[in-house]
Amino acid sequence: MRVVSETQGELMSVGRTWQVTRRLVRQGAIALSAAAAWLASLAWAADEWADWRVAGGFVCRADFSLADCEPLLGELAHLQEDLVRVLGIPAAEERIELYLFRNEADYRNYLSVCFPEVPYRRALYIKRGGPGVVLTFRSEQLATDLRHECTHALLHAVLPMVPLWLDEGLAEFFEVAPELRAFGNPHLSKVRWNARFGIRTPIAKLENKGSVGEMSGVDYRDSWAWVHFILYGSAEAHAELVGFLREISANVPPGKLSVRLRHRIADLDRQYLAHFRGWTPRNQKAGKM
Ligand SMILES: [Zn+2]
Repeated sequence: MRVVSETQGELMSVGRTWQVTRRLVRQGAIALSAAAAWLASLAWAADEWADWRVAGGFVCRADFSLADCEPLLGELAHLQEDLVRVLGIPAAEERIELYLFRNEADYRNYLSVCFPEVPYRRALYIKRGGPGVVLTFRSEQLATDLRHECTHALLHAVLPMVPLWLDEGLAEFFEVAPELRAFGNPHLSKVRWNARFGIRTPIAKLENKGSVGEMSGVDYRDSWAWVHFILYGSAEAHAELVGFLREISANVPPGKLSVRLRHRIADLDRQYLAHFRGWTPRNQKAGKM
């Protein structure tokens, strides 16, 4: 999830389960000021963290030993390469900072001091002028949360904007381990079941979601489904997405992806449904994504 500060044109993205409303966004100057002070304090205290690693474009600091996290950090370093290869976007040149807490209590404590107005969530991504920052704590969902938030961070490091539904759909797509992207995402079974009955959500409906507070769990799943179709189900849709992101990168108004896809693919809905009806490991030779 993400929140855009409408007053300063700055971007603040937050953990995917945050329910931040537009009202709160309009009060964002308060939260952003607190965030700025807090992030500055994080930087000052950088040498006091128990451990740190550099992995690709990420600098990770933690208040516990990161030895057990090295495979995950190595995977995150490859996430950048995957986004560049799959989406055709430039590689992020700016550093992205990760701050990991040893337990939920310490993490909650930090958030309660710096973001008292914002409902608690497991993971947080902030970008405000300087480097993007991801914060979370050690949990069973750590890998998923880091892949999800770091996808947001890498996208927003090189793109001036990303439509909300697409931002979340991509984060959901890349939040699972690479070998699970094609067939192992928990969303797949329900989407495939719906497709059997001709049920799908038009992209245009997802495009109308203006804030994270309007995004339900079903909207996350449907956003993931369209990303999955675009990346695996149609070379034409994939090419359209790459062109769409290229225009955003070049600050060219890209229009709506739903309109572009329908213009290029006359039977878009039929192709979407056919993709998921036939999407099983048995009869598909899924390319690596
Ligand atoms: Zn998200």
